[in-house]
Amino acid sequence: MQYATERQLAIDAVRRAAALCQAVRHSHQSTAIVKPDRSPVTIADYGAQALICQALAAACPEDPIVGEEDAQLLAQPAMADCLAGVTAIVQTLEPTANQSDILHWISRGKGNPGPRFWTLDPIDGTKGYVRGDQYAIALALIVEGQVQVGVMACPALPIDPSQPEGDARSERLCQRGVIFVAVKGQGAEQLPLQPGSGQSLRINPGGPQRLIESVELDHGTPRDQHQIAAAIGLTLPPLPMDSLAKYGAIARNEAALYLRLPSGKSLDRSENIWDHAAGVIVLEEAGGQVSDRHGKPLDFGRGSKLEANVGIVASNGLMHDRVIMALREA
Ligand code: AMP
Ligand code: MG
Repeated sequence: MQYATERQLAIDAVRRAAALCQAVRHSHQSTAIVKPDRSPVTIADYGAQALICQALAAACPEDPIVGEEDAQLLAQPAMADCLAGVTAIVQTLEPTANQSDILHWISRGKGNPGPRFWTLDPIDGTKGYVRGDQYAIALALIVEGQVQVGVMACPALPIDPSQPEGDARSERLCQRGVIFVAVKGQGAEQLPLQPGSGQSLRINPGGPQRLIESVELDHGTPRDQHQIAAAIGLTLPPLPMDSLAKYGAIARNEAALYLRLPSGKSLDRSENIWDHAAGVIVLEEAGGQVSDRHGKPLDFGRGSKLEANVGIVASNGLMHDRVIMALREA
């Protein structure tokens, strides 16, 4: 099968990064530092990027990696405590790594998009990660502007969506931790985060007719999103969820539509490719559909941003045209 090696490499890499993120959260070290662009970062964001870039650089040294975090910022004297924290946590998995190795691995993640490259969000939904909610470790391979492989680990997502809080009768704790995987033309599946057998994902038109959207209100325009959902007959209350996990949630029939409509303040903000690539291929391979608010396919061939697109419409496919029409009329 094409891309079998890359698929397995990506699964192994996000699985290790997820273990690091979970360890940081369990040890209550997931406090956020505010970056100059005012977005949050934790030692786990840097640690996850270090581990994944190390694995990709070893296996595919020719492939650039276009990732979120910047080693130059972490190397600044004001970030010394953070770098020490990152080093300590990475050493739990890579005992011989020193600060300079770690900065070098993270710096691999500031490559330039080329004909073939990886895009990485070491923690998408850092605000959710810090809050104790959903987050995703997202990695995708883009070849000639097309997403070919997408893998995202969602360590806090219940394995069984029908039991989001666990099985109350048996008082069994809810089992959490999922990896969504897709290869272009080969379908999508959900694997358990702890190695085990997977299940393929297929859109079921009878799934819950509800909207899914960001928890963070200013990452979209909730009022407009709710108006469009109502216009096309989605009657259930919207499901708030952080991160790219939203794409996986539609692929496994927890919701029918994800809208991310830019708000007044950020109308000219282009989305980052790493915030969408892995989720888009997972949903499309499960039978869903993704476009921008005008119905244009997302263009992953324009660099690190989705510069040719405005907003995101991701659906189970059945209602996609009606949503675009409702957006046109709105
Ligand atoms: P979500 O968890 O879906 O809210 O998305 C998290 C992502 O939102 C982060 O990776 C940021 O890149 C992105 N983000 C940050 N600020 C904004 C904004 N004003 N509008 C849209 N997305 C944003
Ligand atoms: Mg992100």
